Amino acid sequence: MTIHTSLNNGFVSLVGAGPGDPDLLTVKGHRVIQQADVVVYDRLVSTEILALASPDAEMIYVGKKLDYHCVPQDQINQILVDKAQAGKRVVRLKGGDSFIFGRGGEELEELAKHGIKYEVVPGITAAAGATAYAGIPLTHRDHAQSVQFITGHVQKDGREIEWTSLAQSNNTLVFYMGLKQSGHISDKLITHGLSADTPCTIIENGTRKEQRVLTCSLANLPVVAKSAQSPALIVIGSVTTLSESLQWFNQE
Ligand code: SAH
Repeated sequence: MTIHTSLNNGFVSLVGAGPGDPDLLTVKGHRVIQQADVVVYDRLVSTEILALASPDAEMIYVGKKLDYHCVPQDQINQILVDKAQAGKRVVRLKGGDSFIFGRGGEELEELAKHGIKYEVVPGITAAAGATAYAGIPLTHRDHAQSVQFITGHVQKDGREIEWTSLAQSNNTLVFYMGLKQSGHISDKLITHGLSADTPCTIIENGTRKEQRVLTCSLANLPVVAKSAQSPALIVIGSVTTLSESLQWFNQE
């Protein structure tokens, strides 16, 4: 692999915008967005956060929808490389955290290959934000000692998820991008030994004013998921029962 060294001071900040509520952006994320010459952003980034950019900043939308990319990944990479090589301060702004199902790693690999300097500003990932606003502690000494974040999407290489270890772990399971796959998720977990009565929650539009929290059993998950809208997370495990007593957001 050839490493090219950048001849200018272009710089890329990979910034996680958080899950929805604009107040969940970090102080550092806020500062670098204000200083950016170029902001390259995804669909899930709120308008309030985009409004922090300078009126002179170039705003480039490369929005991602669930099943297709508005701009293919290699083109996004190229935009980042081109703008940085033109000496710009670039903010690459993504929903949640860039390193959790955000392809942040792939973009950094491309920047590194071109010798472009960068930093990573972490964001609050949907699993942390949405469960906090729904009153669901991801771990709790009486319920779960660990938590796993899983993508509901089929892996790049077509590999299946390790269902046996998930079903038998007694962990809290959080599925991202899982709505359309909810039938498959429910079937596989039950077949691999997780009780059909295991409590589940779907958190739709987590941390936003429109947040909805839907509860069901693992067996009922596919039916309830049909009435849910993206973006949504599926949380599985007994911690989800705590929502009933601990929910605080959007309460009358
Ligand atoms: N990098 C992001 C995840 C991107 S994948 C992060 O760290 O959060 C996109 C998926 O994230 C969506 O399909 C959904 O499952 C989840 N998601 C993102 N924002 C959400 C929100 N406000 N509420 C619920 N789920 C959300």
